Amino acid sequence: MNNLLAMKFGGTSVGSAARMKAAGDLIALEAAKRPVVAVVSAMSKITDLLLDVAKHAEADDQTAIDGGIELLEARHFEAVQELLPATERLRVHEQIEEITGDFRRIVSGMQMLGYRPPRAVDEAIAVGERLSALLVSEYLKSIGLASEAVNASEVIVTDAVFGNASPMLRETREKAEAKLRPLLDRGVIPVVTGFNGATADGRPTTLGRGGSDFSAAIVAAVLDAAELWIWTDVDGIMTADPRLVPGAKILDEITYSEAAELAYAGAKVLHPRTLAPLVEKKIPVWSKNSFAPEKPGTRIVPALGAGNGGARAVTSMANVALVSLEPANTGVGGVHVMARAIDALDSAGVELLALSSSSYRQSFCLLIRKEDLEAATQAIETALALELAHGYVHGIEVDQNVGLLAVVGEGMRGFSGLAGRIFTAISREKVNIIAIAQGSSELTISIVVRRDGLEKAVRAVHAECHLA
Ligand code: ADP
Ligand code: ASP
Ligand code: MG
Repeated sequence: MNNLLAMKFGGTSVGSAARMKAAGDLIALEAAKRPVVAVVSAMSKITDLLLDVAKHAEADDQTAIDGGIELLEARHFEAVQELLPATERLRVHEQIEEITGDFRRIVSGMQMLGYRPPRAVDEAIAVGERLSALLVSEYLKSIGLASEAVNASEVIVTDAVFGNASPMLRETREKAEAKLRPLLDRGVIPVVTGFNGATADGRPTTLGRGGSDFSAAIVAAVLDAAELWIWTDVDGIMTADPRLVPGAKILDEITYSEAAELAYAGAKVLHPRTLAPLVEKKIPVWSKNSFAPEKPGTRIVPALGAGNGGARAVTSMANVALVSLEPANTGVGGVHVMARAIDALDSAGVELLALSSSSYRQSFCLLIRKEDLEAATQAIETALALELAHGYVHGIEVDQNVGLLAVVGEGMRGFSGLAGRIFTAISREKVNIIAIAQGSSELTISIVVRRDGLEKAVRAVHAECHLA
């Protein structure tokens, strides 16, 4: 452990020249006191734009491709104009064109193939972070600091699961020691691209949407940073998404486990996998608002002090689907069928968000993301082909008109009446509860409700748990 501070800036925190300046000034302020490594997201909405252009390339829509690339360049040129002194602009323009040139090359490959190979998509969408890292690093230089933009494909080593890669920490540590440590030792501030990495043999990968938080945690862990500060556009981790619950409050402190459960259950403020690399070394994390840096934010810690019992936050996921299966009679082993269905989902790379079963009818339902629905039904149909063909298992039923609500809190264990109160609060709003799932940790109560009642249910539970 040393006194290194890792700072991550999200899309809105580098979304314009003004925001990049604010981010750069926050880096400068801390860099005056201790070594800093920065990790940045692409400017807001840029990743979506890049993905759109890739889609247009597959469809061979030249006008849309050109329009998209023009927008990409314009957004960054405009930022340069405001961000950097006139003497530097031409040079940085050329560097931008070099990076967008890479994007053009990848996109025209897709256009020729009429197909978007996952590996090419990953290389293409990392362009957003390469551009923002360049600009933030150039701004730091323009205010007199030593800085270098670093492409994380040279640092973060991952497996080859394109679009959702996982880091290999030992290899990443070696690369970080070789690439980042010498910069830090010389007093140079590395500005590392969030979101991307590469396999050991150099194929570009990305860590999943919103993955820059995860990148920053990986960098902080392999460099043994003292702290990680995640700068975003809200005051910290709140008792609910402030966009859904106007009365949501900031949590001063939250545990790694609570924050991870919240993130997995849809709280976008943190990428679900962010905390995993930090837990072992107990590296503290702060979630802070780059629009109000004077506010303390939320500290994510290994354990809470006394007096923090009960539910701590409510979260929700709207884009989910419930897949149900029911054995035709009690002679068919329901648990066995369920185990095979779950195994099939796992092999297909589909994440199971919640699970609920009935012991009498042996029926069960699995909650997954909507985007995984096709892969999931296909995997289950293949795994249970014989049982389905012979009628031992009723056909797979899919319900897309559902949403997941989750209540999280380490201290819920001791609150026996809490679940009942939560269900009553939801029913009072006349929202149908479809399934209930509680993890063995008792850290989270997950409830599947009708989609159109989801927001109402979140607000009702938030009020019932006295979180406001
Ligand atoms: P960034 O681009 O900085 O990574 P994100 O948009 O990914 O930011 O995440 C921040 C957003 O997360 C907030 O604007 C907020 O609407 C949303 N959010 C969802 N749940 C929560 C929560 N419990 N606490 C705070 N923010 C939340
Ligand atoms: N730019 C990427 C995304 O939009 C990663 C991130 O912002 O965390 O998903
Ligand atoms: Mg994010």
